[in-house]
Amino acid sequence: MDYIKHAVETIKKGAEEAADKAASAYRKSELRKELKEMYEALGKIRYSEIKNNNLSEEETLKLTSEIDRILREMSDIKGEVGKVCESCAEAVPSDCRYCPHCGAKLY
Ligand SMILES: [Zn+2]
Repeated sequence: MDYIKHAVETIKKGAEEAADKAASAYRKSELRKELKEMYEALGKIRYSEIKNNNLSEEETLKLTSEIDRILREMSDIKGEVGKVCESCAEAVPSDCRYCPHCGAKLY
């Protein structure tokens, strides 16, 4: 009986781990999308600042801290991913010095 109980526990644990992994992967892809939108918004603000010679410091800082929050949450999610490229927002292994997706230098 102990053998069966053990087998059931093992299967349950495996299923839970798989579900956790799937949830993390999903959250990560959500965050990646969010990050890309933030970068885009920041780029638009910056563009209009340059174009109109009119600084909107407050909005820029708000977006920057939002981006930092997303990057932190992404690196908090445990998984196969080591870090996130700050340039293209793709996940990259932690031992990479340059992003394999866009070639940006990684810190
Ligand atoms: Zn990149």
